[in-house]
Amino acid sequence: MKKLLLLFFILLFFSCTAENNDGSDVENDPTNDLTIPLSLYQKIYKTTSDIYIEGGYVYINTNGVPDHKSPYFLGTEWETQQYAAYDGSNPFVTNFNLNPNRISALSLTFKIPISPRKGNGNNPTRMGEIGVSLNGVPFYNQYAGMNQPLTREVNSFDQYNGHPAPMGPGQENGTSGRYHYHMEPFWLTQNHGKNGLIGFLLDGFPVYGPQESGRTINSSDLDDYHGHSHATSDFPDGIYHYHTTADDPYLNGSGYYGTPGTVSQ
Ligand SMILES: [Zn+2]
Ligand SMILES: [Zn+2]
Repeated sequence: MKKLLLLFFILLFFSCTAENNDGSDVENDPTNDLTIPLSLYQKIYKTTSDIYIEGGYVYINTNGVPDHKSPYFLGTEWETQQYAAYDGSNPFVTNFNLNPNRISALSLTFKIPISPRKGNGNNPTRMGEIGVSLNGVPFYNQYAGMNQPLTREVNSFDQYNGHPAPMGPGQENGTSGRYHYHMEPFWLTQNHGKNGLIGFLLDGFPVYGPQESGRTINSSDLDDYHGHSHATSDFPDGIYHYHTTADDPYLNGSGYYGTPGTVSQ
C-alpha cells in the first residue's frame, strides 16, 4: 500500500510538471524569460577572439573576412588561397559586375543582448552592420543607400551572395571594402542547411535560412520585421526568429523586432 501511495504521488508530481510546461506559452509571450545559451553563439565559428558574455550582452569579435572564395579577394593578401572568379551561379545576378572594392580585414565587435525581448516597434536598422552571420561576415539591411533598393547592387553580388562596400565617408574608397550579406548567405545555407541557423541580428534574435519544415518560405509568411515565432531545432520551446527569403526585403523588414545592441570597430 505504501508503495502504491508513493507511486501515486510520483505520478501526480509528473502530471503537474507537464501541466506547468504546457501552460507556459513561451512562444507567444513577448515578455518571456528567454536567455540564449553561450553554446548557440559559439556556432559563430570565425571569430578573432573567444565569444564571451558580460553584463547581459554577448561579445563577438570578427574581422569580417569570409571563409569562402570570392572574386573580391583579387589583389588582396588572401588572393592565392581565396580568389575565385565569379562562376555564374548566383540566381539573383543577371549581369555580374565586379565592383571596385576589395575585401579587407575589419575589427568588428558585436554587442548583442543575450535575453532578447520584443522592442517598442520603432527600432529601424541603419546602414552598415545589422547583425553577424556564423562565419563572422556582417548582415546588412535591404537598402543600397538611404532607402534605395538593391536593384543595381545585386549584380555585384558574388557566387555566395555577398559583396564589399566602400569604407564610407572620410575613408579611402575603392581600395578597401567591408564584405557583407544583404540576402541569404549561400555558403552558410549550403553547409548548415537551408533551414539552419545562420546568425543573429543585433537585437539578439536568430536568423534562419529560407526553408522550414521542408518548405521554402517567402515574405508573406512573415511579419513586418521579417520574422515569426515558433519552435526551431535550437529552441524547442519556441522563439521569435528572422528568415532570409528570395523576395524583398530578403532578411529584415521594417527594423528590429527587439531592441538592438551595438556594433563597433
Ligand atoms: Zn551592400
Ligand atoms: Zn520560422
